[in-house]
Amino acid sequence: MTKFETLGLEKPLLDAISDLGFETPSEVQEKAIPILLEQETDLVALAQTGTGKTAAFGFPMIQKIQSESRTTQGLILSPTRELCLQITNELKLYSKYVKGLSTVAIYGGASISDQARQIKRGAQIIVATPGRMKDMIGRKMVDISKIDYCVLDEADEMLNMGFFEDIKDILSNTPKEKLTWLFSATMPKEVSVIAKKFMHKPQEITIGTKNAGTSTVQHEYYVVGGRDRYPALKRLADANPGIFSVIFCRTKRDTQKVAEKLIEDGYNAGALHGDLSQNQRDLVMNSFRKKQVQMLVATDVAARGIDVDDITHVINYQLPDEIETYTHRSGRTGRAGKSGISMVIVTRSELRKIKSIEQKIQQAFLSKKIPTGIEICEIQLYHLASRIKETEINPEIDNYLPAINDVLEGVDREELIKKIISVEFSRFYNYYSKTRDLNSSDDRVDRGERKDRSKGDIPSNGSVRYFINVGERDNYDWMSLKDFLRDTLDLDKEDIFNVDTKDSFSFFNTDAQHTEKVLQTFTEFKVDGRFINVEVSKNPGGSGRGGRKRDKKRGHRKGGDNKSFRGGRKNNSGKKGGKKRPGFY
Ligand code: ADP
Ligand code: MG
Repeated sequence: MTKFETLGLEKPLLDAISDLGFETPSEVQEKAIPILLEQETDLVALAQTGTGKTAAFGFPMIQKIQSESRTTQGLILSPTRELCLQITNELKLYSKYVKGLSTVAIYGGASISDQARQIKRGAQIIVATPGRMKDMIGRKMVDISKIDYCVLDEADEMLNMGFFEDIKDILSNTPKEKLTWLFSATMPKEVSVIAKKFMHKPQEITIGTKNAGTSTVQHEYYVVGGRDRYPALKRLADANPGIFSVIFCRTKRDTQKVAEKLIEDGYNAGALHGDLSQNQRDLVMNSFRKKQVQMLVATDVAARGIDVDDITHVINYQLPDEIETYTHRSGRTGRAGKSGISMVIVTRSELRKIKSIEQKIQQAFLSKKIPTGIEICEIQLYHLASRIKETEINPEIDNYLPAINDVLEGVDREELIKKIISVEFSRFYNYYSKTRDLNSSDDRVDRGERKDRSKGDIPSNGSVRYFINVGERDNYDWMSLKDFLRDTLDLDKEDIFNVDTKDSFSFFNTDAQHTEKVLQTFTEFKVDGRFINVEVSKNPGGSGRGGRKRDKKRGHRKGGDNKSFRGGRKNNSGKKGGKKRPGFY
């Protein structure tokens, strides 16, 4: 008797399970399946991503559904098209020995009439995104008035994406007596609201963080200067030649930018975010599954729940706003018992976030150093040598061997090896041999390092002078620039002084205590598509309050649309939009 049998599953499912190669149920499966099979109850199940939730609701649903009847009996709502397709595929695999059972996926961005036709043919189980589901209910293309089971999968994410109203509408079209099974990685307030409002005395199961699938994940952080994120990312990739990774950025724009840079720099990279068409997203996902894309740069929403096994590394190019999101990210690796690494690129000022994450995941981070250029060259060299050794010889080569021998005549073995290696190696060597160390000290009180970085002109107290690459040409005068800096930096007016605008750049001062904030804020800071750079000025002139006279007063910025300025920042600072739902689902 297998463990799955003891849970109460019957032959058609057991056979499919054995085909799938599942040997033992995961914890959430072990807890949820008997409850759902034996009891007519609502259920709230909390378990991290990658813990096998699909089967936890899928097996019982498949077993309980009458496959002889063609009535739609089960509805599964899931946040994204990708997840919707993934769940559908899984359910089809699980139910392959259940005669007559049909599972249909409905989601936005594909032909609605095709989907309606599939449903008309009879779909006992529908897997849907909320937006498309609501649409099809409105057009009377689906009938969910007789369902027995409703699953809200990744409920936290559906609510994050602003699907609350849609879910409410959809549920109002379902019978009161149906059972609702809610699955979620986390339990924010919004999820408990749903549980209270739409569920009847749900049983609850929680799979503890410690036993979750992600304990096979090692967490590492790398401290760099804000401006060095991209070169650091490149080094992390180069130091891990077999990398197969998801790289998380905070915004769609950063996602696109990082992916483009990687492609330009010769990596097999792709972008996945909500501004791409469905078609583009499918293409990227397909190449990623086939490992033609080694580095998938993605937003959290677009990558949510993507079930690709064997991901070796998750790289947090930027930390997410919410700590919870980090768990979702790192859960992309270390799946199905394999080990994985979740890397975080941080600046010193973000280090406290690492502490909070450690508390949340109850696992310690390793502080690691970005490899130096020379270390990377070495790694690449050994990787190349072992690749050469392991390469299967292509028999076609034989045909060309005489000619090749002619060309290589007189080159001895030693020299030949050196030359072969150099073909590839020189690319790395030329790039890395002259590069600098990217590591910032992660010691929060190590001022020496900071001094070093800024050429020694940050005094431990007193004022610091900065250079900023906007000026009168950008319609600033000293007053409006001061206003902009005050708002952007969230400082008081008196904290910014000696603002001195030139044609295409300007200078200003703050007290030394604000330096970190200033440099941090203006890291990868873009306005209207243009980077705004702030650096500590090498010329400390202009220090001392009151030194500058207000002689440059020339009124306010002409036509300077403060709005678009602020707007640029907002876009850059991530998904603060709250209820707004991306338009692509
Ligand atoms: P979740 O929904 O919790 O994120 P999934 O249901 O997508 O997790 O499952 C993650 C992966 O684990 C899938 O590839 C799935 O096929 C596999 N899996 C699920 N249950 C088992 C099991 N009992 N044994 C081995 N692999 C499993
Ligand atoms: Mg899932």
